[in-house]
Amino acid sequence: MLMKDVIPGFELYQPTTVDDALALLDEHGADAWKIAGGNDSLSWFKDRVKRPSVVVDLTGIGEMRGITETAEGIEIGALTRLAEIEQDSMIQEKYRLLSDAARAVASPQIRNSGTIGGNLNQDARCWYYRAGLPCYRAGGNTCYADTPEGMNREHTLFNANRCVAVTPSDLAPVMIALDAQMVLRKAGSERVVPAEEFFIGPAIDITRMTTVEPGEMLVSIRIPSEWAGARFYFEKVTDRKAWDFPLVNVAAALKVGADGAVEAARVACGAVECVPRRVTAAEEAIIGQAVDADLAKIAGQVSTRGARPLNYNHFKVPLMANLVARAVRDAA
Ligand SMILES: Cc1cc2nc3c(=O)[nH]c(=O)nc-3n(C[C@H](O)[C@H](O)[C@H](O)COP(=O)(O)OP(=O)(O)OC[C@H]3O[C@@H](n4cnc5c(N)ncnc54)[C@H](O)[C@@H]3O)c2cc1C
Ligand code: SF4
Repeated sequence: MLMKDVIPGFELYQPTTVDDALALLDEHGADAWKIAGGNDSLSWFKDRVKRPSVVVDLTGIGEMRGITETAEGIEIGALTRLAEIEQDSMIQEKYRLLSDAARAVASPQIRNSGTIGGNLNQDARCWYYRAGLPCYRAGGNTCYADTPEGMNREHTLFNANRCVAVTPSDLAPVMIALDAQMVLRKAGSERVVPAEEFFIGPAIDITRMTTVEPGEMLVSIRIPSEWAGARFYFEKVTDRKAWDFPLVNVAAALKVGADGAVEAARVACGAVECVPRRVTAAEEAIIGQAVDADLAKIAGQVSTRGARPLNYNHFKVPLMANLVARAVRDAA
Protein backbone atom coordinates (compact mmCIF):
# COMPACT_ATOMS: atom_id res chain seq x y z
CA MET A 1 0.00 0.00 0.00
CA LEU A 2 1.28 3.50 -0.83
CA MET A 3 1.85 5.83 2.13
CA LYS A 4 0.41 9.19 1.09
CA ASP A 5 1.19 11.30 4.14
CA VAL A 6 4.74 10.63 5.33
CA ILE A 7 7.67 11.85 3.30
CA PRO A 8 10.88 9.83 3.66
CA GLY A 9 13.70 11.86 5.19
CA PHE A 10 16.26 13.83 3.16
CA GLU A 11 18.94 16.44 3.72
CA LEU A 12 17.43 19.87 3.01
CA TYR A 13 19.52 22.78 1.73
CA GLN A 14 18.13 26.30 1.36
CA PRO A 15 20.61 28.45 -0.59
CA THR A 16 19.90 32.16 -1.08
CA THR A 17 22.11 32.81 -4.12
CA VAL A 18 22.44 31.16 -7.52
CA ASP A 19 26.14 30.49 -6.88
CA ASP A 20 25.43 28.70 -3.60
CA ALA A 21 22.70 26.62 -5.24
CA LEU A 22 25.02 25.64 -8.10
CA ALA A 23 27.77 24.67 -5.66
CA LEU A 24 25.30 22.39 -3.83
CA LEU A 25 24.04 20.87 -7.08
CA ASP A 26 27.62 20.32 -8.20
CA GLU A 27 28.51 18.64 -4.90
CA HIS A 28 25.51 16.30 -4.80
CA GLY A 29 25.04 15.69 -8.55
CA ALA A 30 22.27 13.22 -9.44
CA ASP A 31 21.39 12.75 -5.73
CA ALA A 32 20.12 16.33 -5.48
CA TRP A 33 16.47 17.14 -6.22
CA LYS A 34 15.71 20.77 -7.01
CA ILE A 35 12.46 22.00 -5.55
CA ALA A 36 10.65 25.29 -6.27
CA GLY A 37 6.90 25.58 -5.51
CA GLY A 38 6.83 21.83 -4.80
CA ASN A 39 3.51 21.14 -6.54
CA ASP A 40 4.99 18.36 -8.66
CA SER A 41 7.85 17.32 -6.38
CA LEU A 42 5.89 16.83 -3.16
CA SER A 43 3.44 14.37 -4.69
CA TRP A 44 6.41 12.22 -5.79
CA PHE A 45 7.86 12.35 -2.27
CA LYS A 46 4.55 11.70 -0.51
CA ASP A 47 3.86 8.72 -2.73
CA ARG A 48 7.37 7.47 -1.92
CA VAL A 49 7.97 6.88 -5.62
CA LYS A 50 10.94 9.26 -5.76
CA ARG A 51 13.17 9.24 -2.69
CA PRO A 52 15.94 11.81 -3.08
CA SER A 53 18.57 11.87 -0.37
CA VAL A 54 19.21 15.60 -0.90
CA VAL A 55 16.69 18.36 -1.67
CA VAL A 56 17.83 21.83 -2.72
CA ASP A 57 15.05 24.33 -2.08
CA LEU A 58 15.47 27.16 -4.60
CA THR A 59 12.72 29.44 -3.27
CA GLY A 60 15.06 31.64 -1.20
CA ILE A 61 17.00 32.80 -4.28
CA GLY A 62 15.67 36.32 -4.91
CA GLU A 63 17.76 36.84 -8.06
CA MET A 64 15.78 34.06 -9.83
CA ARG A 65 12.44 35.76 -9.31
CA GLY A 66 10.74 38.51 -11.32
CA ILE A 67 9.93 39.82 -14.78
CA THR A 68 12.30 42.32 -16.39
CA GLU A 69 11.94 44.22 -19.66
CA THR A 70 15.25 44.20 -21.56
CA ALA A 71 16.50 45.69 -24.83
CA GLU A 72 15.82 42.33 -26.52
CA GLY A 73 12.45 41.49 -24.96
CA ILE A 74 11.69 40.20 -21.49
CA GLU A 75 13.54 37.97 -19.04
CA ILE A 76 11.54 35.94 -16.53
CA GLY A 77 13.30 34.41 -13.52
CA ALA A 78 12.65 30.67 -13.25
CA LEU A 79 11.23 31.13 -9.73
CA THR A 80 8.59 33.61 -10.87
CA ARG A 81 5.22 32.30 -9.77
CA LEU A 82 2.53 31.53 -12.33
CA ALA A 83 0.14 33.98 -10.61
CA GLU A 84 2.66 36.82 -11.13
CA ILE A 85 2.90 35.97 -14.84
CA GLU A 86 -0.86 35.74 -15.14
CA GLN A 87 -1.34 39.18 -13.50
CA ASP A 88 1.60 41.12 -14.95
CA SER A 89 0.24 44.08 -16.94
CA MET A 90 3.22 44.26 -19.34
CA ILE A 91 2.87 40.55 -20.18
CA GLN A 92 -0.87 40.97 -20.59
CA GLU A 93 -0.29 43.87 -22.97
CA LYS A 94 2.60 42.52 -25.08
CA TYR A 95 2.76 38.75 -24.61
CA ARG A 96 -0.83 37.87 -23.77
CA LEU A 97 -0.27 34.30 -24.92
CA LEU A 98 1.84 33.72 -21.81
CA SER A 99 -0.59 35.24 -19.29
CA ASP A 100 -3.50 33.40 -20.91
CA ALA A 101 -1.68 30.07 -20.61
CA ALA A 102 -0.57 30.76 -17.02
CA ARG A 103 -4.21 31.47 -16.11
CA ALA A 104 -5.20 28.09 -17.54
CA VAL A 105 -2.91 26.13 -15.17
CA ALA A 106 -4.51 24.17 -12.32
CA SER A 107 -6.06 26.23 -9.50
CA PRO A 108 -5.35 29.67 -7.94
CA GLN A 109 -3.57 27.96 -5.03
CA ILE A 110 -1.21 26.09 -7.36
CA ARG A 111 -0.59 29.21 -9.46
CA ASN A 112 0.26 31.14 -6.27
CA SER A 113 3.06 28.75 -5.35
CA GLY A 114 3.90 27.06 -8.66
CA THR A 115 6.80 28.58 -10.61
CA ILE A 116 7.44 28.86 -14.32
CA GLY A 117 10.65 26.82 -13.87
CA GLY A 118 8.73 24.06 -12.11
CA ASN A 119 6.00 24.13 -14.71
CA LEU A 120 8.45 23.74 -17.60
CA ASN A 121 10.48 21.02 -15.86
CA GLN A 122 7.59 19.00 -14.48
CA ASP A 123 7.61 15.26 -15.06
CA ALA A 124 5.24 13.09 -17.13
CA ARG A 125 1.72 12.52 -15.79
CA CYS A 126 1.37 8.87 -16.79
CA TRP A 127 -0.74 6.86 -14.33
CA TYR A 128 1.61 3.88 -14.27
CA TYR A 129 4.79 5.88 -13.83
CA ARG A 130 3.24 8.03 -11.09
CA ALA A 131 2.10 4.89 -9.28
CA GLY A 132 5.69 3.70 -9.10
CA LEU A 133 5.52 0.85 -11.61
CA PRO A 134 8.89 -0.15 -13.14
CA CYS A 135 8.22 1.04 -16.70
CA TYR A 136 10.81 2.20 -19.26
CA ARG A 137 10.79 5.77 -17.92
CA ALA A 138 11.37 4.45 -14.41
CA GLY A 139 14.32 2.34 -15.56
CA GLY A 140 12.42 -0.88 -16.36
CA ASN A 141 11.88 -2.67 -19.65
CA THR A 142 8.19 -2.30 -20.49
CA CYS A 143 5.53 0.34 -21.11
CA TYR A 144 2.25 -0.37 -19.30
CA ALA A 145 0.36 2.33 -21.19
CA ASP A 146 1.23 1.04 -24.66
CA THR A 147 -0.63 -2.26 -24.32
CA PRO A 148 -4.02 -3.32 -25.73
CA GLU A 149 -5.81 -2.54 -22.47
CA GLY A 150 -3.41 0.16 -21.21
CA MET A 151 -4.90 3.44 -19.95
CA ASN A 152 -3.60 5.66 -22.71
CA ARG A 153 -6.28 8.20 -23.58
CA GLU A 154 -4.02 11.02 -22.31
CA HIS A 155 -0.98 9.73 -24.17
CA THR A 156 0.94 10.54 -27.33
CA LEU A 157 0.04 10.85 -31.00
CA PHE A 158 3.55 11.46 -32.35
CA ASN A 159 7.14 10.24 -32.06
CA ALA A 160 6.77 7.69 -29.29
CA ASN A 161 9.94 5.81 -28.48
CA ARG A 162 9.22 3.06 -25.91
CA CYS A 163 7.49 5.68 -23.68
CA VAL A 164 4.17 7.12 -24.91
CA ALA A 165 3.76 9.81 -22.21
CA VAL A 166 3.20 13.45 -23.21
CA THR A 167 4.34 16.83 -21.95
CA PRO A 168 1.65 17.95 -19.48
CA SER A 169 2.78 21.59 -19.25
CA ASP A 170 0.48 24.37 -20.41
CA LEU A 171 3.38 26.82 -20.74
CA ALA A 172 5.61 24.51 -22.81
CA PRO A 173 3.88 25.14 -26.19
CA VAL A 174 3.86 28.87 -25.42
CA MET A 175 7.66 28.76 -25.13
CA ILE A 176 7.80 27.30 -28.65
CA ALA A 177 5.30 29.78 -30.08
CA LEU A 178 7.17 32.76 -28.58
CA ASP A 179 10.57 31.36 -29.61
CA ALA A 180 11.84 31.56 -26.01
CA GLN A 181 15.47 31.05 -25.05
CA MET A 182 16.16 29.08 -21.88
CA VAL A 183 19.10 30.17 -19.71
CA LEU A 184 20.70 27.17 -17.98
CA ARG A 185 23.54 27.30 -15.49
CA LYS A 186 25.74 24.84 -13.68
CA ALA A 187 28.86 25.47 -11.60
CA GLY A 188 31.25 27.46 -13.81
CA SER A 189 29.20 27.57 -17.01
CA GLU A 190 26.07 28.87 -18.67
CA ARG A 191 24.30 27.78 -21.85
CA VAL A 192 21.35 29.35 -23.63
CA VAL A 193 19.10 26.85 -25.37
CA PRO A 194 16.17 27.54 -27.73
CA ALA A 195 12.86 26.21 -26.38
CA GLU A 196 12.71 23.71 -29.26
CA GLU A 197 15.89 22.07 -27.93
CA PHE A 198 15.06 22.48 -24.24
CA PHE A 199 12.30 19.85 -24.24
CA ILE A 200 13.59 16.38 -25.09
CA GLY A 201 11.85 13.16 -26.02
CA PRO A 202 12.54 9.57 -24.93
CA ALA A 203 14.76 8.91 -27.94
CA ILE A 204 17.28 11.36 -26.42
CA ASP A 205 16.83 10.49 -22.74
CA ILE A 206 13.85 8.52 -21.46
CA THR A 207 14.43 9.57 -17.85
CA ARG A 208 14.21 13.34 -18.41
CA MET A 209 11.67 15.65 -20.06
CA THR A 210 14.13 18.53 -20.58
CA THR A 211 17.77 18.98 -21.42
CA VAL A 212 18.51 20.15 -17.84
CA GLU A 213 21.24 17.86 -16.50
CA PRO A 214 21.99 16.83 -12.93
CA GLY A 215 23.97 19.69 -11.40
CA GLU A 216 22.31 22.20 -13.72
CA MET A 217 19.27 24.42 -13.33
CA LEU A 218 17.04 26.69 -15.37
CA VAL A 219 17.79 30.22 -14.20
CA SER A 220 15.58 32.31 -16.47
CA ILE A 221 13.60 32.44 -19.68
CA ARG A 222 14.18 35.09 -22.36
CA ILE A 223 11.32 35.97 -24.68
CA PRO A 224 12.37 38.00 -27.72
CA SER A 225 10.53 41.22 -28.52
CA GLU A 226 10.01 39.97 -32.08
CA TRP A 227 6.65 38.54 -31.03
CA ALA A 228 5.57 41.39 -28.74
CA GLY A 229 2.08 42.56 -29.62
CA ALA A 230 1.51 39.78 -32.16
CA ARG A 231 -1.90 38.18 -32.55
CA PHE A 232 -2.20 35.33 -30.07
CA TYR A 233 -4.42 32.38 -29.29
CA PHE A 234 -4.23 29.89 -26.41
CA GLU A 235 -6.74 27.18 -25.68
CA LYS A 236 -6.65 24.02 -23.64
CA VAL A 237 -9.20 21.23 -23.62
CA THR A 238 -9.57 19.18 -20.46
CA ASP A 239 -11.84 16.44 -19.18
CA ARG A 240 -13.30 18.85 -16.63
CA LYS A 241 -13.35 22.61 -16.27
CA ALA A 242 -11.05 22.98 -13.25
CA TRP A 243 -7.76 21.62 -11.89
CA ASP A 244 -6.96 19.54 -14.89
CA PHE A 245 -4.11 18.85 -17.23
CA PRO A 246 -4.58 19.37 -20.97
CA LEU A 247 -5.89 16.59 -23.19
CA VAL A 248 -4.57 18.85 -25.95
CA ASN A 249 -3.61 22.53 -25.83
CA VAL A 250 -2.61 24.97 -28.55
CA ALA A 251 -0.55 28.17 -28.57
CA ALA A 252 -0.38 30.36 -31.67
CA ALA A 253 1.42 33.61 -32.50
CA LEU A 254 0.67 35.28 -35.84
CA LYS A 255 1.75 38.47 -37.57
CA VAL A 256 -0.80 39.71 -40.05
CA GLY A 257 -0.18 42.44 -42.65
CA ALA A 258 -2.44 45.36 -43.52
CA ASP A 259 -3.81 43.33 -46.43
CA GLY A 260 -4.92 40.56 -44.04
CA ALA A 261 -2.26 38.06 -45.16
CA VAL A 262 -0.28 36.16 -42.54
CA GLU A 263 3.35 37.30 -42.60
CA ALA A 264 4.74 35.02 -39.90
CA ALA A 265 3.33 32.29 -37.68
CA ARG A 266 4.39 29.95 -34.92
CA VAL A 267 1.91 27.33 -33.75
CA ALA A 268 2.52 24.60 -31.17
CA CYS A 269 0.43 21.96 -29.40
CA GLY A 270 0.99 20.30 -26.05
CA ALA A 271 -0.06 16.86 -24.76
CA VAL A 272 0.26 15.21 -28.19
CA GLU A 273 3.94 14.27 -27.98
CA CYS A 274 6.55 13.94 -25.24
CA VAL A 275 7.72 17.44 -26.19
CA PRO A 276 5.56 20.42 -27.21
CA ARG A 277 4.95 19.87 -30.93
CA ARG A 278 5.53 22.74 -33.32
CA VAL A 279 3.03 22.33 -36.15
CA THR A 280 5.00 23.70 -39.06
CA ALA A 281 2.61 22.17 -41.61
CA ALA A 282 -0.15 24.43 -40.28
CA GLU A 283 2.18 27.45 -40.28
CA GLU A 284 3.18 26.79 -43.90
CA ALA A 285 -0.46 26.41 -44.92
CA ILE A 286 -1.34 29.94 -43.78
CA ILE A 287 1.78 32.02 -44.46
CA GLY A 288 1.14 34.52 -47.27
CA GLN A 289 -2.61 33.85 -47.11
CA ALA A 290 -5.60 35.58 -45.59
CA VAL A 291 -7.07 32.99 -43.23
CA ASP A 292 -10.73 32.19 -43.73
CA ALA A 293 -12.72 29.28 -42.29
CA ASP A 294 -11.77 26.93 -45.15
CA LEU A 295 -8.04 27.63 -44.91
CA ALA A 296 -8.18 27.30 -41.11
CA LYS A 297 -9.77 23.89 -41.53
CA ILE A 298 -7.01 22.82 -43.91
CA ALA A 299 -4.36 24.06 -41.45
CA GLY A 300 -6.02 21.95 -38.75
CA GLN A 301 -6.15 18.87 -40.96
CA VAL A 302 -2.50 19.03 -42.03
CA SER A 303 -1.39 19.52 -38.42
CA THR A 304 -2.29 15.91 -37.58
CA ARG A 305 -0.51 14.28 -40.50
CA GLY A 306 1.59 11.38 -39.26
CA ALA A 307 -0.39 10.97 -36.04
CA ARG A 308 -0.28 7.41 -34.66
CA PRO A 309 -3.00 7.18 -32.02
CA LEU A 310 -3.03 4.47 -29.38
CA ASN A 311 -6.04 2.31 -28.52
CA TYR A 312 -7.90 4.89 -26.47
CA ASN A 313 -6.77 8.29 -27.70
CA HIS A 314 -8.09 8.45 -31.28
CA PHE A 315 -10.28 11.35 -30.17
CA LYS A 316 -7.14 13.49 -29.89
CA VAL A 317 -6.69 13.58 -33.68
CA PRO A 318 -9.85 15.59 -34.50
CA LEU A 319 -9.42 17.50 -31.24
CA MET A 320 -5.96 18.69 -32.27
CA ALA A 321 -7.15 19.49 -35.81
CA ASN A 322 -10.04 21.56 -34.48
CA LEU A 323 -7.90 23.40 -31.94
CA VAL A 324 -5.29 24.33 -34.54
CA ALA A 325 -8.03 25.43 -36.96
CA ARG A 326 -9.63 27.60 -34.27
CA ALA A 327 -6.26 29.03 -33.22
CA VAL A 328 -5.24 30.22 -36.68
CA ARG A 329 -8.74 31.43 -37.58
CA ASP A 330 -9.25 33.44 -34.38
CA ALA A 331 -5.68 34.78 -34.16
CA ALA A 332 -5.77 35.95 -37.76
C1 LIG B 1 -3.47 19.12 -8.82
C2 LIG B 1 -2.49 19.63 -9.83
C3 LIG B 1 -2.95 20.17 -11.02
C4 LIG B 1 -2.04 20.64 -11.96
N1 LIG B 1 -2.54 21.16 -13.13
C5 LIG B 1 -1.67 21.64 -14.06
C6 LIG B 1 -2.17 22.21 -15.27
O1 LIG B 1 -3.38 22.31 -15.49
N2 LIG B 1 -1.27 22.65 -16.18
C7 LIG B 1 0.08 22.59 -15.97
O2 LIG B 1 0.84 23.03 -16.82
N3 LIG B 1 0.57 22.06 -14.84
C8 LIG B 1 -0.26 21.59 -13.87
N4 LIG B 1 0.23 21.07 -12.70
C9 LIG B 1 1.69 20.80 -12.63
C10 LIG B 1 2.67 21.69 -11.87
O3 LIG B 1 2.71 21.25 -10.54
C11 LIG B 1 2.43 23.16 -11.88
O4 LIG B 1 2.23 23.58 -13.20
C12 LIG B 1 3.55 24.01 -11.23
O5 LIG B 1 3.86 25.12 -12.03
C13 LIG B 1 4.83 23.33 -10.92
O6 LIG B 1 5.70 24.30 -10.39
P1 LIG B 1 6.43 24.12 -8.97
O7 LIG B 1 7.33 25.30 -8.81
O8 LIG B 1 5.42 23.89 -7.92
O9 LIG B 1 7.24 22.79 -9.28
P2 LIG B 1 8.22 21.84 -8.38
O10 LIG B 1 7.44 20.69 -7.89
O11 LIG B 1 8.96 22.67 -7.38
O12 LIG B 1 9.21 21.37 -9.52
C14 LIG B 1 8.76 20.58 -10.59
C15 LIG B 1 9.94 19.93 -11.29
O13 LIG B 1 10.73 20.93 -11.88
C16 LIG B 1 12.07 20.89 -11.38
N5 LIG B 1 12.50 22.28 -11.25
C17 LIG B 1 11.88 23.26 -10.55
N6 LIG B 1 12.52 24.42 -10.73
C18 LIG B 1 13.57 24.16 -11.54
C19 LIG B 1 14.62 24.97 -12.09
N7 LIG B 1 14.71 26.28 -11.84
N8 LIG B 1 15.54 24.38 -12.88
C20 LIG B 1 15.45 23.05 -13.16
N9 LIG B 1 14.49 22.24 -12.66
C21 LIG B 1 13.56 22.81 -11.87
C22 LIG B 1 12.00 20.12 -10.07
O14 LIG B 1 13.21 19.45 -9.79
C23 LIG B 1 10.86 19.16 -10.35
O15 LIG B 1 11.34 18.03 -11.03
C24 LIG B 1 -0.64 20.60 -11.71
C25 LIG B 1 -0.18 20.07 -10.50
C26 LIG B 1 -1.08 19.58 -9.57
C27 LIG B 1 -0.56 19.03 -8.29
S1 SF4 C 1 4.00 5.82 -21.14
FE1 SF4 C 1 6.08 6.15 -20.39
S2 SF4 C 1 5.74 6.74 -18.28
FE2 SF4 C 1 3.87 5.65 -18.93
S3 SF4 C 1 4.13 3.47 -18.51
FE3 SF4 C 1 4.86 3.83 -20.59
S4 SF4 C 1 7.08 4.15 -20.32
FE4 SF4 C 1 6.13 4.50 -18.33
